[in-house]
This record gives sequence, C-alpha cells and structure tokens, in this order.
Amino acid sequence: MRKLPWRRISGPVLTVLVSLGTLYVHRHVVQIVVPGALPFMAVLYSAYVGGLRSGLVSSVIAIVFSIIVNSLPGHFLTFNAEGFTRLGVLSASVVIATLLLGTLRGRAARLLQIERASRARVEATNGELMRLHAALHRVDYGIVLLDEELRAQFINRAYLRLFDLPAAQIESGIGFADLLRHARESVLMTLPNAELEIYIAKRMVQMRTGLENRTDLRLTNGQVVRAQSTPLPEGGWMLSYNDVTDLVSQADEMAQLAAIDGMTDLYNRRHFQKLGQEACERAQRERKPLSLLMIDIDLFKTINDRFGHAAGDDVIRSVANLCRTGMRPGDIAARLGGDEFALLLPDTSIEIATALAETLRQRMAGSPISNAEADATATISIGVADSTSGIRSLGDLMLRADTALYQAKRGTRNSVVRAGEHHQADHLQAIVAA
Ligand code: GH3
Ligand code: MG
Repeated sequence: MRKLPWRRISGPVLTVLVSLGTLYVHRHVVQIVVPGALPFMAVLYSAYVGGLRSGLVSSVIAIVFSIIVNSLPGHFLTFNAEGFTRLGVLSASVVIATLLLGTLRGRAARLLQIERASRARVEATNGELMRLHAALHRVDYGIVLLDEELRAQFINRAYLRLFDLPAAQIESGIGFADLLRHARESVLMTLPNAELEIYIAKRMVQMRTGLENRTDLRLTNGQVVRAQSTPLPEGGWMLSYNDVTDLVSQADEMAQLAAIDGMTDLYNRRHFQKLGQEACERAQRERKPLSLLMIDIDLFKTINDRFGHAAGDDVIRSVANLCRTGMRPGDIAARLGGDEFALLLPDTSIEIATALAETLRQRMAGSPISNAEADATATISIGVADSTSGIRSLGDLMLRADTALYQAKRGTRNSVVRAGEHHQADHLQAIVAA
C-alpha cells in the first residue's frame, strides 16, 4: 500500500478538527469571540510542516469554516459590509502568511538540499583525490604537481627517494626553486652559489614560458633521470622524473660500438669521417692549420704469412698504441680498416706533423714483433698532408695524404712523405696503371 504523505495532510486534517472543535465549543459551551483565529493557527502549522500546497488547502478549509461560523447568530462577524471586510482582511492575511511561510520553508529546504549535495560532491572529490594520490605514490617515477605560483601541491614517494628529499621538508609546502636547490645540493653536481641562482632563475623562466620541456639529469651516483615538465590545462605543471639509466647506458654502449674499432679501441672509419669533417670545418672557420697522417703497415701480408695471423693482429695493436702515444687532447686517431690508420692533428702545422710522423716511423721500426723471431720488426709508411688552400673537406685532405702515402709505398717504404713533395701527375698515373 502507498504510504500517506502524512506531513502534507496532517495540516488540513488538523485544520478540520480544530474548526469542528471551535464550532462545537462556540455552539455548546461558550461563545468565543474570534472563533476563526484558532483554525488559522492550524493553517500556519500546516504551511510550516506540509509546505505551500498543504497550507493553501488548510487556508481554504479555515476560510469556509469562518464563513459558516460567522453566519451563526451572535457573532462579531455579521453578514454586512463590515463583517465581510473583517473576514476578507483576516483571510488575506492568513493566505499571505501561508504563502510566505511556505515559500520560506521551500527555499530553506532547497538550500539545505544544495548544501547536502555540495558536501557530498566535496567528499566524493576528496575521495577521488586521495585515490589518485595513492596511485601516484605507487608509480616508480617521481611526480611533482605544481600550482600556478610554482609551489608543490603534491610530491610522490618516488621523487623523495630519487632526490633524497626528507618528507618533513615538503609538509610545510615547498616551491620549485627550493626543489631545484635541494636537488643540486643532494644528488646533482653542485654549483657555486652565483651559478646556482642563475640556473634556478633560468629554469623558473623556462617553466613560466609554459612550454613542454625535457632534459636528462646525470646524478652524482651515476643514475640518469629524464625530467619532463608538462603544463596542465587547468593551470600549473606536472613534473615527472623517470630513471632512464639502463636506456642511456645501452644507448651509450651502442654508440660506442658503432664508433669504435673492436681490435684497437681506436675510432673506426665511419666515426673518424664524422669527427674529421667537423674538425675540418672548425679549422676553416678559425683559420687554423689541420694536418693528417695516413699510416699503413709495410708488407703486412708477408708478416701474416711468416708469423701467423695472431702475430699480425699484435702488430696492428702495436701501431694503434703508437698512434695513441703520439696524441694530444683534441687529436683524432682511427683504424680505417685492415692495416691502415689515420691520425688527424688539429691546430698543427705540416712541419710538426711530419716530425711526429718521423718519430712514429722510427719507433715502429725499432720495436720487435711480439711472439715472432727476436730480430723481426714491422715498419710503417706515412703520408702527411695539411689543409692548405684548396682543401675544402676531409675527403680532399685524405686524398692528399693518401697520395703521399702511395709515394712512400712506391719508394722505399718505411718512410714519411709529405704531400706536394712529389709530382701529383706521377701519382695519378700510377693509380691509373694500378
Ligand atoms: P703494402 O706495404 O703495400 O701495404 O703491402 P701489404 O702487404 O701491407 O698490403 P696491404 O696493405 O694491401 O695488405 C693488407 C693486409 O692486411 C691484407 C689482409 O690480409 C691483412 N689484414 C687485414 N685486416 C687484418 C686483420 O685484422 N688482422 C690481420 N692479421 N691481418 C689483416
Ligand atoms: Mg699495408
């Protein structure tokens, strides 16, 4: 069975009962002066408890009752003009009071409802936020959420671990500048104070420009952390710190493998060409000399044949070591392939380069082949060239040095030939003939 809306009907029922009661008392017990007043009190109760509609129903009941009572003899409201005016004023006042009370009550109820709904929403949002924070604490990369003033709103545990930041330090609220300062002091390479402040100011400006920014941080313990700042659409930023040590070391290893000759640990031809071209352009820009030694082991096939491949490998390694001993910082040594080597000497004149080549040649000739007969030695021939006018690229320079090397091979071998010492045409003819 449907439940009666008691709150709504209790007012009209009460109004009926009070009206009948008043009528009874008025007729049989004592003639009361304002019999209409009591039912109208019930109307107000009805409007308060049951709302606007309930109040209006009760008003109608009370007015009908008043008309009945006032039609009885001996009452102060009689059916003349004055009586009707009193009845009218009384009814209108009660109806207005009912309307007011009903409206106020309705509005209060609505406000209460809104307040309850918004409290529920806040609770739901808080719950959601807590769940989100709990999840962010579980991810294994550091996360910091910054507001528009660059103050940290949230820092997850992985960040605290990564940057060795005590949890107590973030409770009072910490700004981005302080996070940078702490990171520099704890896990990154420290900077002198003035430089640190410039670095912080730069990073703050970078953040405020609102662009996405990604950078790899090398921590003092060897870890590499990829830091990324992403502006959030609602304002503020999300910073994420991902440990990419494995990735970076793998990439370093790959780059190393791609650039280094496995037998000698010198650069390979490909990397030499890359570094050599850069050195060539730098030398042209700075108008500085650049010299190149092309080195080739003499009659290497014979060494392999006489002493075996392993001894041949040792000779290759000893030439590599020889190149290394003659190097200064900035020089570039490479094994171009087989028994051929290159030594590029920035900021070095051809005279100095030729002298160095002669030293290398003599040292090689003076050192016996390991694991071979006591007196067996290997020799090298060297072509030397420099980036004088007309040389635009590393390729040009290599061709020039190669030409000189070819001359050495055509001669006595175990010798140093400087480019330009022999006639170019000779060499070209020889190449064509070969
Ligand atoms: P030249 O004086 O004219 O240079 O005579 P060469 O015998 O040295 O001739 P060439 O430079 O052309 O010979 C290179 C030889 O080096 C051919 C090859 O068998 C040998 N070789 C190339 N790579 C290696 C290596 O990694 N180890 C060893 N042991 N030998 C190698
Ligand atoms: Mg050779």
